[in-house]
Amino acid sequence: MKIKDILLSNKFINFRHSYGISSATFTGESFLILKLLGEDGTFGLSDSVTSIPFGYEDVGTMIYIIQNHLFPAILGIDSFDIEAIETKMEKATPGHPMAKAAINIALHDLNAKELGIPLYQLLGGKYRHAVPFAGGIGISETERMVKEAHDFVENGCKTLKMKIGVDPKSDLERVREIRKVIGDEINFRVDANQGCNLTEYLPIFRKMEKYNLESIEQPLPIWDLEGYQKLCWALDTPILIDEGIYTPHDLMTLIKFKAVDAVNIKILKTGLTGGKQIAAIAESAGLPCFVGSMFETGIGTAAGIHFALSTRNIAYDNECAFPLMLAEDIVEGDIYSETPKDYSWDLPKGVGLGIQLKSNVNLGLSSLKEQRGEK
Ligand SMILES: [Mg+2]
Repeated sequence: MKIKDILLSNKFINFRHSYGISSATFTGESFLILKLLGEDGTFGLSDSVTSIPFGYEDVGTMIYIIQNHLFPAILGIDSFDIEAIETKMEKATPGHPMAKAAINIALHDLNAKELGIPLYQLLGGKYRHAVPFAGGIGISETERMVKEAHDFVENGCKTLKMKIGVDPKSDLERVREIRKVIGDEINFRVDANQGCNLTEYLPIFRKMEKYNLESIEQPLPIWDLEGYQKLCWALDTPILIDEGIYTPHDLMTLIKFKAVDAVNIKILKTGLTGGKQIAAIAESAGLPCFVGSMFETGIGTAAGIHFALSTRNIAYDNECAFPLMLAEDIVEGDIYSETPKDYSWDLPKGVGLGIQLKSNVNLGLSSLKEQRGEK
């Protein structure tokens, strides 16, 4: 179906509670909501989020780039011509992967709706029947972090991710305390969001290894390929890359430098097409993946669930659960009614992403076509 219009909105949503990472503490975030219209009125949805300070794009830059460069490049093209559309967007402007990913996700939702099938079928069909997800523990006081870990496990959560990267000694103490509380059976991963340096943290990571961490995520700045190479050699715990991978090229560079053991695929950074390419490259290189979260609404979370259901090389539990952290989600659908007891999403029902925008939420979506003075 021909691409007719794109409607955009910048929506701030509060979180239920503060969430700290090594570079900032968040109490809410600005979300991009994108509605891509086909010529018969069918539409696809996507979302994105301000990734600053751990990434490069915010909602304002994404709106500018989509409005002025990406939308004009793809207007009127058949929505099923995904690779041609990706190429046109690349030619329109280099970079801006999250703005491009938002269009890619909405195109897939639109196409699945057009075919009358759930999105996972368009992505290759179901490889698995459920998507287990992890509980996330942000940086705060040690007591609060230990309690959060305890509560997650008490409620049936099998995998925990804890943020680190502010202070080496506190990080080690928190890993020790949380492992003590959750027992040996729970998968336990840490994520530094680039907050560590090699000299200070290598001895700390060596000490952390006895607490059986599933992975250490993005410990160093993304430019420190040599540092990552050293960590991969020095530690048994897998070094997992997140912010360092937006494109298949990023992953290829890390593989060439032997600077990666595992991959966090975030659909909002890669799109569904790029995510599939990254998963396939990682599989060929023997690197396991999971689908990560970067403050999605229910839209991006649903996209991540469909991706995880349909992708073989998803070896770790995923993180597709950020709507549970939002004061109020903007969408509704079967999968978001409550936290499942076993921390695992079932197969989504319905066509496309299987979610709908809530009728009582005013998004103030504005049409790019109208802004261009066209009807
Ligand atoms: Mg991360």
